[in-house]
Amino acid sequence: MTGFDPFMLTEKVREKVVQVRNGTEYRMYYRFRGGKWYGGIATGDVVGCNLRCKFCWSWRYSHGYKNGKFYNAYQVFHRLIDIASRRGYRYLRLSGGEPTLSQNHLLQLLDLVDETDYLFVLETNGLLIGRDKRFAEKLAIHKSVIVRVSFKGASPDEFERLTGASKKFYDYQFKALENLIDAGLEPGERVYPAIMLSFSEPENIKWFVERLKSIDPALPESIDPEYVILYPHVIDLMKRYGLKPKKAFRPNGLPGFLI
Ligand code: SF4
Repeated sequence: MTGFDPFMLTEKVREKVVQVRNGTEYRMYYRFRGGKWYGGIATGDVVGCNLRCKFCWSWRYSHGYKNGKFYNAYQVFHRLIDIASRRGYRYLRLSGGEPTLSQNHLLQLLDLVDETDYLFVLETNGLLIGRDKRFAEKLAIHKSVIVRVSFKGASPDEFERLTGASKKFYDYQFKALENLIDAGLEPGERVYPAIMLSFSEPENIKWFVERLKSIDPALPESIDPEYVILYPHVIDLMKRYGLKPKKAFRPNGLPGFLI
């Protein structure tokens, strides 16, 4: 196996970014913010991830464990609600790293959001949900949750090249969709795929779409394509790994190229 095992990395990262104090799980965060995505969304950015994507916009926090502060679900809920209510947003989310590393913290946060009219977008690489059907069921009972499973590349080989993790773990992302649909989330509505397409070959994209279709015909219709945004720190990271996007955008939204 050339790539690393993301489940082994999960355990190592958890030790640094998750703490249990008096029976309550705390997660490390590096900021809380509002933003234009989804038409306006309050966001808590977590520290730590179980992948090492070579295009990650948040790599200074997702690839390490520094510069964060621990919060419990109740504290996070109030930070997010405060931002959302002041700005008139309908959506809340966690981003920055991988939110599913702190399962109990996430589920407690969803319990709190369920008591409101807000919707919660769970942005995840899906690996831990794909591995654990029970986790998918615990997520799916929440009325507020919408799960966006973000695929890293359009084939096992692309996954390994982009994330550093072994290609044999790629399929857990599809398994996440299957587990969440089996648990009752409507495909294309409350669970849908996103995919980083900046580095993908056309024949792999075709294979990816067919694979989604084999799970549920609604999934290809709801693909949310992602492309690299050429922030200076993202350019630095890609250059370090010799990665060159076929398609990317500048921070002003115009097409951009990596020389
Ligand atoms: S899964 Fe997301 S947060 Fe984690 S390294 Fe990849 S792009 Fe960054």
